[in-house]
Amino acid sequence: MRPFAYERAESTAAAVGRAAADPAVAFLAGGTELVAWLKEGISAPRTVLDLSRLPLDGIHRDGEMLRIGALARLADVAANPVVSAVAPALAQAIDSAASPQIRAMGTVAGNLLQRTRCPYYRSPTEAPCNKRRPGSGCAALGGDNRTAAILGANERCVATHPSDLAVALVAVEASVLVEGTDGPRVIPIEELHAPEPEDPTRETVLRSGDLITELRVARGRLAEAGCFVKIRDRAAFDFALVSAAAAVLPDGDRIGAARVALGGVAPRPWRCRRAESELVGKTVGLEQIRRAAELDLALARPLAQNGFKVELAVRAVVRAVERSWEAACR
Ligand code: SF4
Repeated sequence: MRPFAYERAESTAAAVGRAAADPAVAFLAGGTELVAWLKEGISAPRTVLDLSRLPLDGIHRDGEMLRIGALARLADVAANPVVSAVAPALAQAIDSAASPQIRAMGTVAGNLLQRTRCPYYRSPTEAPCNKRRPGSGCAALGGDNRTAAILGANERCVATHPSDLAVALVAVEASVLVEGTDGPRVIPIEELHAPEPEDPTRETVLRSGDLITELRVARGRLAEAGCFVKIRDRAAFDFALVSAAAAVLPDGDRIGAARVALGGVAPRPWRCRRAESELVGKTVGLEQIRRAAELDLALARPLAQNGFKVELAVRAVVRAVERSWEAACR
């Protein structure tokens, strides 16, 4: 780990200004990711700017909106009864993420800004990795690609995005409030993470100095019906091989509205718009949901070791939609 200076942010505006003026400033929130990056040599900031004293950890219902401060701890969000009532998929996703110790320290914004768990990216060796060493190639293409992407990737990088929470947030069409040098702006979660990796080093659409200050979820029956499903190697503590979040609303005995997202399959949370369109107007049955999920998975380009993710993703969508339907019909 390289030496760095430590500073404490006194205000959101000061933090944004400090980071915008010096790209070698790194924000510190819960520290569960940044400290790992420092140890692994992924990040070597000149200055670490501690945000933990900023008043950005509130959780409240505000009119038609659930607002979660960016610095709210994952464990606090999962245990919050307002979150469980307004958007239960968020609590389910957090409960399945990481260890209790990480959830006690990690923040919601930090969770969204996690970087990939690709073993070559996290490795101290000099393996080719366009994300870590631009232009060096991608060792995962011909190497260990069991956990790699099957959707939305290209030969530059096939890494997956690891956040479970982000998948649930996409399914309930949440957004983030971002403070930047030009003032605040709202970014839909679906647009927060960079699309197909033209530049694998670019993880999000955030600009220099941008600071996520709040997560926003519109209240409503769709968000209340959201459900999250995660499939992983070890049930106790692991990243998703595949995850799915769904929110459906009944219209009589048929689906009137549907939102579906997948995790663990792409460089960002993957919105399944084909499945959503196909599900509307259908009755809820295994074959109908399977057919809908397969429309999105028809785009999959699996590698040598991860073809199993295609069927796993279809089954995860089926389970998430079934559970959401049950929740919506209660
Ligand atoms: Fe690096 Fe991406 Fe390839 Fe992994 S998949 S080795 S992160 S370029």
